[in-house]
Amino acid sequence: MAVTVVGSVAFDALETPFGKRDRILGGAATHFSLAASFFTDVRVVGVVGEDFGAEELAVFEVRGINTDDLDRVDGARSFFWAGRYEEDMAVAHTLDTQLNVFAEFDPALSEGARESAVVFLANIQPDVQRRVREQCEAAVLTGLDSMNYWITSARDSLLQTMRAVDVVVLNDAEIRMLTHDPNLARGARQIRALGPRVVVAKQGSYGAAMFTEEGFFSVPGYPLETVVDPTGAGDSFAGGFFGYLDSHSASPITDEKLRCAAVYGSVLASFSIEEFGSERLQRLTHAEIEQRFDEFRRMTHFEAIRPAASGRTVTTSNRR
Ligand code: AMP
Repeated sequence: MAVTVVGSVAFDALETPFGKRDRILGGAATHFSLAASFFTDVRVVGVVGEDFGAEELAVFEVRGINTDDLDRVDGARSFFWAGRYEEDMAVAHTLDTQLNVFAEFDPALSEGARESAVVFLANIQPDVQRRVREQCEAAVLTGLDSMNYWITSARDSLLQTMRAVDVVVLNDAEIRMLTHDPNLARGARQIRALGPRVVVAKQGSYGAAMFTEEGFFSVPGYPLETVVDPTGAGDSFAGGFFGYLDSHSASPITDEKLRCAAVYGSVLASFSIEEFGSERLQRLTHAEIEQRFDEFRRMTHFEAIRPAASGRTVTTSNRR
């Protein structure tokens, strides 16, 4: 069992109401790998420049993440993203995107990566996502994420890549943007009609909604009193979701497992936003994950206690 993820491994400059970081380790594949590493073996496929040093590599190695497919290009710089969040932190404003090494990225996967049971195509150029998907012939579960940047600049390619995966994970706003439908349920149906059997709509602090063949499942956002930096929440969600499913990939992936995956995804996302970048995930423990999973269970459980028999009734025959 192993999950392979392809996506950005980056340096981010971040500005939130809680502070600023000029250059910290980021990237969709970074957040995903760290989150997934709590559940299963992870292989990261990506490219970095010579500015990516031993300190950054150690973040992956400490969590046992396999970096054989993480190329390092001499004389070039890593992907760089600068983002800023407003007071409510619901939307990231992109200030700068420098593809750098990713502009020429066309990976040939190692045998180990190609044999992974679960493959996640994190947010990156959709042609690259598709070429990675094509190399992973042994995959039993594949998923992808994307963002407004690619929805507007490479829509057709993105739709083509979506046809080749089982699970699409997008923000609710991205689903509306992609499908041109303001209604989320209809938008999710449109995406499922392309081929994916599961659509997960991430809803920021409101949690996530999942649309499957069997219906609908919703998980709330964890009621954190302080959110320091929402960067990477979506990727950490996906890491928890697919990492958990990979740990169960030897048997069929049922709706019950998909629901637990959505809760583990929310657990990982909720931790990731407590601190800047990947700082919180770097020191997270299994015990903390399980404790918050149980809290989600309590938060969402309710007994069906119907109205008491003496409840108010209105006799319609007296009405004029
Ligand atoms: P999220 O907050 O989960 O949407 O993802 C944040 C991460 O995505 C950051 O750490 C960025 O480095 C990375 N990112 C931002 N824009 C892009 C892009 N256009 N392609 C790939 N990764 C990106």
